[in-house]
Amino acid sequence: MGATYTFKGLLTENGWITNAVVSLDDLGNITSIKQTETPEGEYINGYALPGFQNAHSHAFQYAMAGLAELHTNTGAQDDFWSWRNAMYGLALTLSPNQMEAVATMLYSEMARHGYTAVAEFHYLHHDKDGSPYPNLAEMGTRLMAAAQKAGIRITLVPMFYQQGGFGQEPVERQKRFISHTIKDYYTLLDSSIEAAKAFDNANVGIGIHSLRAVKPEDVVAVCNALDGSRPFHIHVSEQLKEIEDCVAFHGKRPVQWLLDNCPVDANYHLVHATHLDDSEVNGIAKSGAHVVLCPSTEGNLGDGLFRFEDYKNAGGNWSIGTDSHVGLNPLEELRILDYGQRLISHKRTSFVTPDSGDSGFNAIKMAWQAGRRAMGATDGTFFSEGQPFDAVVINAASPLIATASEKNLCNTFVYAADVSDILGTIVSGKWISKQGVLQNRDAIVTDFVRVMEELGTRV
Ligand code: ZN
Repeated sequence: MGATYTFKGLLTENGWITNAVVSLDDLGNITSIKQTETPEGEYINGYALPGFQNAHSHAFQYAMAGLAELHTNTGAQDDFWSWRNAMYGLALTLSPNQMEAVATMLYSEMARHGYTAVAEFHYLHHDKDGSPYPNLAEMGTRLMAAAQKAGIRITLVPMFYQQGGFGQEPVERQKRFISHTIKDYYTLLDSSIEAAKAFDNANVGIGIHSLRAVKPEDVVAVCNALDGSRPFHIHVSEQLKEIEDCVAFHGKRPVQWLLDNCPVDANYHLVHATHLDDSEVNGIAKSGAHVVLCPSTEGNLGDGLFRFEDYKNAGGNWSIGTDSHVGLNPLEELRILDYGQRLISHKRTSFVTPDSGDSGFNAIKMAWQAGRRAMGATDGTFFSEGQPFDAVVINAASPLIATASEKNLCNTFVYAADVSDILGTIVSGKWISKQGVLQNRDAIVTDFVRVMEELGTRV
């Protein structure tokens, strides 16, 4: 027998179970959930939601979070591309130890904010001079080790990154990212799959960095070889310049090109997809593919606003990710997404569906369902029997929450709560963060601070 918890409330797709007893087996998998009059096991005065899914991360970029806002030369154009230059500078300097320290701090902070799983979109593969590490998957292994230390699940998605732009050779500062051929990429992928076997909560996806980073014939070959057993991730249509370059090279917009040339289906996770025309909005929705929206980063980089209303009305699926980690709060991601739409639509119904007018609940559910697919998971409903018990628990004693009726709980969380209202985060039945305290926090912070001093990034 494993642990038993009684929560003041537990969220299901059909509403709240009050006084919910959750019984687990030794591995932390759910054996039963029932309502009770008499608490069993550990009583928690909190509301359990399914753990948030962070469907897009570049862990190393956490080292520069918040540093791109000193605009010293106010005459210069500071945009996505100038930010990318700074990001490349960081990418060129990190050692495996430093990567692991930064990622461990980051993933621990994700856990503190209620994320229980992360999809790591990983392209910093090679040594500083561009040569492969003896273990091809060295950096990916460090990322999985970091996730294990933080207690969070990871779907490592090693990226195929081959060239510097549409029809262009890679440039010097991209040397750590490059797989020259499909064969090189598959060798890296196989090494990553092998490395993941050493970790309990790690699996591996497949990815192409972007249409600009891989030759079209190789994009098609990789996509045609997908068998649906691993999630497929790709950056697409984040920046207007990328659309212009793609149209100049292919004669088509990026998403349209992908839809026309690859068997796009529910296994595809299109990251950003910010700039879409009508045919692309409907094409993604019809294919069953998912988009991964990263509202805090997209806002920070000035990408633009995703066509959420049209996509939702077409039946499109979406998850959230924290990308550059300028924000790490899932509730904030949902709010930024919603408020961006409200500001342009002058309506307050971004998350409303024909089935439900409960914005907070809908946002949690939609982001979770697509987020699970982005991780390569197949559990379709919250807290299914046989699945690991992964939850974020909201403090029922927080004043706004303590006074909210059941029907107002999800909206109080999504629109009016912050991380101080989170009682803790549970993965496979174990607390990985409780009352803001992370497992091994002191050692993790010490390592992170040392690495920041070594890098000098934050000075
Ligand atoms: Zn990204």
